[in-house]
Amino acid sequence: MAFQKAKAISMPPKPGKPESVEGLETRCPRLGGTVPFRYCLAPGEATPCYKILDCWWETFDVVSYLKSRLPEEKVASLSEDRRQPNRLDTIVELVNKLKKTDPG
Ligand code: SF4
Repeated sequence: MAFQKAKAISMPPKPGKPESVEGLETRCPRLGGTVPFRYCLAPGEATPCYKILDCWWETFDVVSYLKSRLPEEKVASLSEDRRQPNRLDTIVELVNKLKKTDPG
C-alpha cells in the first residue's frame, strides 16, 4: 500500500499539457463514484470543491496547478477550508440546491 502511494506521488503532470490532468479520474468520497479532475474544478458551482487538495495531492501537484489558475486568496481559502461535512450533509445540500432551482 505504501509503495502505491509513493508511486502516485512521484507521478508529475505532463509538462505543457494541463488538459491532461483535467481528464484524470478518482473516486469521489462525496458522490461515491468516479469523477474526472475537471469536475472537481467546478462541481456544479463556479469554485473548486473544498476537498480538491485532499483528493488530488497524491496524484499530481494540484497546489501548483491551482496556483497557476486561481487568485492566491482562493487557493489559500481552499487550504484553510478543510472542514468535512459528512455524506448526509452533502445530500441535504444537494437537495436544497435542487429545491431552489426546480420550483415544480
Ligand atoms: S475534490 Fe470534491 S468532487 Fe472531486 S473527488 Fe474530491 S470530493 Fe469529489
